[in-house]
Amino acid sequence: MAGIYVHVPFCTAKCAYCDFYSVARPDYADAYVGAVEQEFAARLSELAGETVETLYFGGGTPSLLSPGQFGRLASIFDISGLKEFTIEVNPDDVSPDKVKAWIDAGVDRVSIGVQSLDDGELRTVGRRHDSKQALSAIELLQRSGISNISGDLIYGLPGQTASSFVCSLKRLISSGIRHLSAYSLGYEEGTRLWRWLQEGRVVPADDDLTLEMYKSLCRVAASAGFEHYEISNFALPGFRSLHNSAYWCGTPYLGLGPGAHSLDSCGVRRYVPSDIKSYLKAPCTASVIDDEDETDRANDRIMVSLRTAGGLDLTLFDDGDRAKIKAAALPWLESGDLVESPSGFAIPERSWMLSDAIIRDLLL
Ligand code: SF4
Repeated sequence: MAGIYVHVPFCTAKCAYCDFYSVARPDYADAYVGAVEQEFAARLSELAGETVETLYFGGGTPSLLSPGQFGRLASIFDISGLKEFTIEVNPDDVSPDKVKAWIDAGVDRVSIGVQSLDDGELRTVGRRHDSKQALSAIELLQRSGISNISGDLIYGLPGQTASSFVCSLKRLISSGIRHLSAYSLGYEEGTRLWRWLQEGRVVPADDDLTLEMYKSLCRVAASAGFEHYEISNFALPGFRSLHNSAYWCGTPYLGLGPGAHSLDSCGVRRYVPSDIKSYLKAPCTASVIDDEDETDRANDRIMVSLRTAGGLDLTLFDDGDRAKIKAAALPWLESGDLVESPSGFAIPERSWMLSDAIIRDLLL
């Protein structure tokens, strides 16, 4: 099996914390759709005939595309064998005509960037929507027949308290979402938020507050019946993201559009440089092979899999690497922050906040 990821690199304005590639040039959208069609035709062989089971339109903001543009982009792909077709949306883009276009094109899962249900927190980081729009958008999607909805939240926002985070979390869960992605706010170099930090205009949440929010997140999600299946992801039974789960298991996927990454069926990684103008000029030859060796690939596997509940499968490593990983794991096994799993090791939920340190130690 395989997946396809399409990076739609347009946003109306940049959110203060975001370092994903996007440009405020929706006037490029028509040319972009044509370019993706050409790129897909040129690169389909990278999947070596694997059945494509998941299609994921991320960004950027795929929901900025007009119904016509979205329909043309979706029509590039054969959706007959798909098990999941996801689109990432911003709440303020969700309108009846767009929802109809998404459904007509075969979308059956929507990931909505709620981030917070506190309007002050949303304004602070430059989100375009407010809490009312987010909840109305979820209701419109549900009324239109899309029940498989994932909501994104951020914890550790400037000015956010543990109680305001829990309030957002409970209201979002009450809206009837089936999947939740909750991320700790990062201060990525080059973002406005990072600049504010350098200028002393913003105070990051301290470790104790972040830990308190994380523990509340795990507790509230569990009491609502959500399974915590990846460090930042929770799902009601039967609603795990098939696309992301496949990615975490090392399943091949083809990434199209500027800023997209790929893994082909021979284990080779590629990326399309984050430059819309170059991409539009030569979409068929835009992708570049990642400069990584066997050790880099093994380390990628360690990093990604230890963030999942299933953990690391040691049978995928050769004898030498397996011995090194086992030796590095010993102190963490003794402390209980790493546990044995049927085929290797896993980090228990209570220790996921230590995952960066554990993974660093286990890297080859
Ligand atoms: S967070 Fe989403 S909407 Fe905001 S700039 Fe990044 S990709 Fe665009």
